[in-house]
Amino acid sequence: MKEVIDIGVNLLTWKYKKLITLSILIFILCIGAMFGILFLMAGTLNSNVKIGYGDATISEIGEAQIPSQYIPIYKAAAEKYDVPWNILAAEHRVETRFSTMDPMISPVGAVGHLQFMPCTWIGWSYPGCSGLGQGNIPNSDLINPAIIKKYGGYGVDANNDGKADPFDLEDAIFSSAKYLSKNGASSGNIEKAIYAYNHSQSYVNEVLHFAELYVSAGVVIGGEKFIWPVKYTTNITSPFGSREDPFGNESEFHKGMDISAPGIAGKTVYAIADGKVTYAGPMNGYGNVIIINHGNGIESRYGHLSKIKTETGKKVDQGQKIGNVGNTGQSTGYHLHLEIRINDKPVDPMNYYRDINN
Ligand SMILES: [Zn+2]
Repeated sequence: MKEVIDIGVNLLTWKYKKLITLSILIFILCIGAMFGILFLMAGTLNSNVKIGYGDATISEIGEAQIPSQYIPIYKAAAEKYDVPWNILAAEHRVETRFSTMDPMISPVGAVGHLQFMPCTWIGWSYPGCSGLGQGNIPNSDLINPAIIKKYGGYGVDANNDGKADPFDLEDAIFSSAKYLSKNGASSGNIEKAIYAYNHSQSYVNEVLHFAELYVSAGVVIGGEKFIWPVKYTTNITSPFGSREDPFGNESEFHKGMDISAPGIAGKTVYAIADGKVTYAGPMNGYGNVIIINHGNGIESRYGHLSKIKTETGKKVDQGQKIGNVGNTGQSTGYHLHLEIRINDKPVDPMNYYRDINN
């Protein structure tokens, strides 16, 4: 009798263990699938949102400054490698002033229209590649697509002439696009990709500066640009950046821009893009403030409001009335303080409103 009971218990335990193992397996599979879906969603979102570039059309400055014969090449390379075309134009401008530098060889040995280090072009595993990457590479190797492939270089034979030549314009532009793409630009990490090209923040800023000049306004969010937050005026009384503190301290960094004009008190404030309100209420310095998260690390803040017409947690559409211009918080007069943050870092809102004349 005892034995029978024991066997019964053992059988039960065995079934129980199987059940637990099975449950754990299913659980792991579910978690795996969830992460997979999240990952895919993040990828999709990233490709839809391109900050300041995207499908933006060429600006008047771009038309005036970029030699027009290069534009179709930038655009073809941009499409092939999924990077913004104006970044390629800006790189070309900064590296060789649109190929007007003579000779197109830098003091450290960077070569061609887009100033590649020879080892980056041919691949860093090429024998003798080290240091800054000048190497000691015979030209016949440098431009040989098979050798570039073997050593994992970025050189591309874009015009199909059998050579991948940094001194050939098309090859150089396509190679640059490939480099930026592989270094993060195609997944939205444009600054990181430019930094990889040349490890200097001032270089990155210079490239971004030209890139922004070359397109007409636009943070592109799901294909929509930011709209101006008050219809009443586009007058800016205090821009983004360092300024004298209106409260008598020596100087401060103004994290946004102030929009004001006589008669602005109580005028309607509009959401500059679709998003979700992450905070609506009083906050130190800001007075009554609304913070909207637009996704992908992009956030807008509207300060010193007299009235708030939305709530924390609410979804808002672009152009929706969210409040009224006021004088609450640390403010010396009726104005709207508009702040745009990217990954919590305040950026100059005017970079995204180039169509507005001020
Ligand atoms: Zn302000």
